Amino acid sequence: MIKGLGEKLSGLVRSILGKSIVDKKAVEESLKELKKILIASDVDLTLVNELIKNVEKKVLKEKTPAGLTLREHLIKTIYDELVKILGKEFEEVKGRKIMLVGLFGSGKTTCAGKLGYYFKKKGKKVALVCLDYHRPAAPEQLKQIAEKIQVKYFIDESKNPFEAAKVSVGKLSNYDVIIFDTAGRNALDKELADELKKLGKIIKPDEVLLVIPADIGKVAKKQAEEFNKLVGITGVIVTKLDGTAKGGGALSACSVTGAKVKFIGVGEKIEDLEIYDPKRFVSRLLGFGDLQTLLEKAKEADIKKEKVEKIVRGEFSLQDFMEQIESLSKMGPLTKIISLIPGLGGALPKDLIEMQEEKMKKWKVIIQSMTLEERENPEIINASRIRRIARGSGTKEEEVRELLAQYKKMKKLLKMVGGLRGKDLSALNKLLKRFGGRLPFGF
Ligand code: GDP
Ligand code: MG
Repeated sequence: MIKGLGEKLSGLVRSILGKSIVDKKAVEESLKELKKILIASDVDLTLVNELIKNVEKKVLKEKTPAGLTLREHLIKTIYDELVKILGKEFEEVKGRKIMLVGLFGSGKTTCAGKLGYYFKKKGKKVALVCLDYHRPAAPEQLKQIAEKIQVKYFIDESKNPFEAAKVSVGKLSNYDVIIFDTAGRNALDKELADELKKLGKIIKPDEVLLVIPADIGKVAKKQAEEFNKLVGITGVIVTKLDGTAKGGGALSACSVTGAKVKFIGVGEKIEDLEIYDPKRFVSRLLGFGDLQTLLEKAKEADIKKEKVEKIVRGEFSLQDFMEQIESLSKMGPLTKIISLIPGLGGALPKDLIEMQEEKMKKWKVIIQSMTLEERENPEIINASRIRRIARGSGTKEEEVRELLAQYKKMKKLLKMVGGLRGKDLSALNKLLKRFGGRLPFGF
């Protein structure tokens, strides 16, 4: 829903999870990408640079915390630093009198309805009060919204905002939540500031929430500062996050002023309002529900990497062999090994890569008929074991022998391929020749 930013950040996380190795170069590449993403979201350049510098320092210069891999540490640090610039912690709306302020078209009246609906759903007795008599159509707009969500509304017949404030506060004393929808202007001029200050004195609101549209991006900083200085605000609602790529800019800009974003507007409908919890928000931007799930994914990625390295070291059991058979079609680590050999990307003839499907299926059944010990230490498989395995899997003894022979060849080959990492292709060609120009069973 957060246009652009969420998609790009979750894309970055996926790319970090997908890297076979996370080293200094990988961290630097990721940070370069992160910087681009944040700038595209209109986050202030100083803020972006500071964030990148902090991540760099923590991930590359400081010791990786015990128990974390560099990949996990990188993801966690990016998460932490994003939370830091996007608002730190969650803060609830308090009290019963809520005054909405902001410029024309920022989404105040829409928010009055959304907030009314939010509190009504919580079982509160809600009233909306129109204090905008500057724009002729404003009272009618509020009335329609109040009728739609079926809450009380108050409109002053004399069309005087101060009178409306005074009378409504008295009349609505038995309501749990009263939302005051004030008038905007094109800019925060003296007239608007005076009007809002005067209204504040009459209402004595518990919350003054500034409504800011996300599409103004980093300019939100100036607006939040000015409103706070001239009127005094207790929090911010950032609206229209669904329709702009500048959401990151607006949210981070509010945060640097110390103003707490309490809600975000994510659409035109009455239910498109969410409480703003920076941690949950960043988790969602990164795309894995919560930080814990994300770190588990990172751990999985590192386990996969270890497996590739184990295979390359020649530690390749029949259990691994079976897993490979299962995952070959899904681009398992085996294909990854090929990609690790410099210059070889795609250089293998297609028929070498194609699978002998029938044979693979049969091998799988054979391996399943072995004990775990046999799978881990195939050397112990003697003639009598071969007989048992063949009987158990409904295959011929020759077939079990063929599988074991192919496994041994494969293991040997993988060990040699492992030794080739970082060397040139001519060595691989020599190796291919030793296998009669073919790698065993279509690897
Ligand atoms: P006001 O002048 O501050 O009272 O602004 P309004 O509440 O009248 O809203 C101005 C326009 O912004 C309306 O067309 C709303 O439908 C639209 N709007 C408000 N909030 C959102 C939001 O979160 N997302 C989108 N897409 N549109 C919004
Ligand atoms: Mg309005």
